Amino acid sequence: MDTRPRDDERSARRLRRELATVRAMLALHCRAAHGSRRGLCAECEELWGYVQARVGRCPFRADKPTCQRCTVHCFKPERREQIRRVMRFAGPRMLWRHPLLAILHLLDGRRRPR
Ligand SMILES: [Zn+2]
Repeated sequence: MDTRPRDDERSARRLRRELATVRAMLALHCRAAHGSRRGLCAECEELWGYVQARVGRCPFRADKPTCQRCTVHCFKPERREQIRRVMRFAGPRMLWRHPLLAILHLLDGRRRPR
């Protein structure tokens, strides 16, 4: 019997993982930059909502590349700048705090959009 996950299951898992990665990065950045102790401050919570909504509507769906490598850039310019600041800060720290997520994200990033 074929027990390999089907493609759509795999990509759903990948999407969830990408969102989990973004959430972890937001939390790292928010704690350092905005001094929040648990969860996110209002500003970051709003950004998180925006990210989820955008990724949920990603036109690539199953073939979604990581956002950094994406060819569409569906974020509004100011949101894009916001999330880039978070990534620049949290990216290098992810390897220490969430090594598994960081590595999987790097691997996902090697996929190219079709
Ligand atoms: Zn914050």
